[in-house]
Amino acid sequence: MSKIIIFGECMVELSAIAEQTYQQTFAGDSYNTAVYLKRCNPRQQVSYWSTVGSDTLSEQLLINISQENIATELVLNSPDKTLGLYMISTDEQGERSFAYWRSDSAARQSVKLLLNKGGIELLSDCDYLFFSGISLAILSEQDKQSLLDLLSQLRQQHGCKIIFDPNYRPLLWSSVEQARIWTDKAYALADIAFPGCDDHRVLYGHDNVTDVHRHVQALGVNEIVIKNGAQGVQIFQDGQHSIVPVQQVANVVDTTSAGDAFNGGYLAARFAGHSVQSSASFAAQIAAYVIGHKGAIVPAETMKPFLEVNTL
Ligand code: ADP
Repeated sequence: MSKIIIFGECMVELSAIAEQTYQQTFAGDSYNTAVYLKRCNPRQQVSYWSTVGSDTLSEQLLINISQENIATELVLNSPDKTLGLYMISTDEQGERSFAYWRSDSAARQSVKLLLNKGGIELLSDCDYLFFSGISLAILSEQDKQSLLDLLSQLRQQHGCKIIFDPNYRPLLWSSVEQARIWTDKAYALADIAFPGCDDHRVLYGHDNVTDVHRHVQALGVNEIVIKNGAQGVQIFQDGQHSIVPVQQVANVVDTTSAGDAFNGGYLAARFAGHSVQSSASFAAQIAAYVIGHKGAIVPAETMKPFLEVNTL
């Protein structure tokens, strides 16, 4: 059984359910990916690398991670920090808006704390490591470089495969130029990448799949899975091109975490031995289900019947 480490930040999510009444859950791109991956392929070992504080919410998050059967040995502790938080409000037209409190969150300490605790030795038993542009953006300049150095060593010395989703969030970067520089460095380390057409349009000015593919391939990525909403998935693996159609979702309820659910489903299927084409098709079904429901992480019970990927 192989092991994947997923690196990033999970936040407290407060979502309005009535006037001045909020429901509290936990979510964040890397965590959503970890949850869907583990739910879809329970035999896969999944470990979450992040940092929490010593408060009650942090303890609740640890319980939540364990309830999803995700290993917590790499969830580090920063006693004087706490979790980041975001709030989703919906106006009378149903338009959603987000507000974030994450600029001093515990997760920003994850690289520093890992280096203090033993560094690469703590990661060296993994076969895969997934991170995103958000996982990278929240770190200090020095920690960004330390993270990429760690990943480079893991890849070269331990044969670990690196998986990257650029997930561009302009507010987390000092400038678009900085975001491009670091995203390119991350791509250059990746074996599998999940570029989204929307992200590449804003970050690089790419307006078609060919431009996205050229850019990512030039940085040496072998398995490129290009997401483009309802317009289908295009995959380039070892230079082979495949197009996987996506079924339109008639009633889109909430697109939060569509890309994360897709990533989780895709990796679950790939780790179970499926081809890139059938993995993308499975991933699109998971993403379609998630956008038909409210919230980043939908209740596990409602997904059970079709969720688990068959092992070959
Ligand atoms: P990201 O959120 O990473 O930018 P996308 O918006 O392309 O990614 O969505 C990820 C996946 O979710 C798509 O590849 C597709 O499978 C699914 N998806 C997104 N929007 C729709 C939609 N309107 N109908 C059906 N599937 C969708």
